[in-house]
Amino acid sequence: MGPHCSCCQHRMLLAVWLALLVLHGHMLAAAQSSSKLSDQLLKKYLSNDELVAWMDEFIHKCSHMSRKYSIGKSARGAELWVLEISDKPGVQEAEPHFKYVGNMHGNEPSGRMLLPQLAEWLCANYNSTDTARRVVDHMHTHLLVTMNPDGFAARKRANGNHVDLNRNFPDPVELHSSEQMEQPLPNAEPETIAMMKWTLDTPFVASANLHEGAIVANYPFDGYPDHSQKLTGQRHPAPDDKAFQFFAKLYAKKHAFMAASKEFPDGITNGAQWYPVYGGMQDWNYVAAKCMAITLELSEAKWRPEGHLQALWEENREALVALPLAASLGGISGTVVSAADGSPLPATVMLDGIAWNTSARLPTGYFNRPAAPGVYTVRVVHPGYQPASAAVTVPEDGSGVVSDFTLVNSMAAAAAEGAAPASRERVASC
Ligand SMILES: [Zn+2]
Repeated sequence: MGPHCSCCQHRMLLAVWLALLVLHGHMLAAAQSSSKLSDQLLKKYLSNDELVAWMDEFIHKCSHMSRKYSIGKSARGAELWVLEISDKPGVQEAEPHFKYVGNMHGNEPSGRMLLPQLAEWLCANYNSTDTARRVVDHMHTHLLVTMNPDGFAARKRANGNHVDLNRNFPDPVELHSSEQMEQPLPNAEPETIAMMKWTLDTPFVASANLHEGAIVANYPFDGYPDHSQKLTGQRHPAPDDKAFQFFAKLYAKKHAFMAASKEFPDGITNGAQWYPVYGGMQDWNYVAAKCMAITLELSEAKWRPEGHLQALWEENREALVALPLAASLGGISGTVVSAADGSPLPATVMLDGIAWNTSARLPTGYFNRPAAPGVYTVRVVHPGYQPASAAVTVPEDGSGVVSDFTLVNSMAAAAAEGAAPASRERVASC
């Protein structure tokens, strides 16, 4: 080959090499952008597939504090993924569980971006911020980022079967026994059935559900005892009205401007007072699953432009962190065990004057009762054991109060009582 041809070859090789270099650069850039979905959370609405990919990316990055699990499938077969945030995800501990639910209505998508961003914030701030560390280390936070992926894909309120999921739950006004409340209705949608099973199976103490269409924190009850649909403006307070108002006000206060609402005093409303809803998820959580639930309306307009997501996050960031902490760690907690052998008991835990109760859970015997700051009498009962009670003060600073109970077996107590007078008689006769 002559020198001319050799030069040609060199030029060609150089051109090929340069082309490969450019191609490699493009591939690298593409790989980098697709592997950084976290950077896009506040820039666009991720598709359902992208959201799952983001979750995998997050778990890879923050493996020490997260896991994902599915609670079932949507009407059109999309997996309903939950991201659990905790220093021991998936482990049964004597710690409270809290859940956030986003995108229940398909055309209210801000929650499906705010909740992933909350996870990112917790991971990024774990080593530097006390609140992030408390959320991760002392409780389990479960994020169902989209409850209605089919509705999101269709940009519609309802699910894939055209059903409004927030009217699809057993309602305490219509059904009274706990057995009835735990059974999905005959017309229950797959998302509703999955949500009910998940909520009943997990020891959630509190929950919040993210919506759009107003700016307000809404608390139970959503309906009236007479099933009235009239807009009367009357409140229908739940037994835990004080606690619900406290948590709703807390969210509104920590939000950038919710508490300054002109329409809703303090940025909160009783559900029925605003407009009655029956078959909603909020009241079902409270009555059937013993989970104190509120509903957060985060934007007047639905499906805000993607350019607003960053601002929506800034408006809600502090509140999204403060609510789980206050509801999960700011109330009354403790364990209930048997005096005989220290074994944990699934006892019923009540507060005097409040017609609602929760229970200690096995295998730990741990109970957690969300409560507003104040003085309470805690009463603990379990079949075959003598009841016990304690006066507690829930402090204002959100640190909560611990009240442990050791229950005495009724038979043992009766035997001890029977023995005691005899022993006193003997003492007296001496
Ligand atoms: Zn909604």
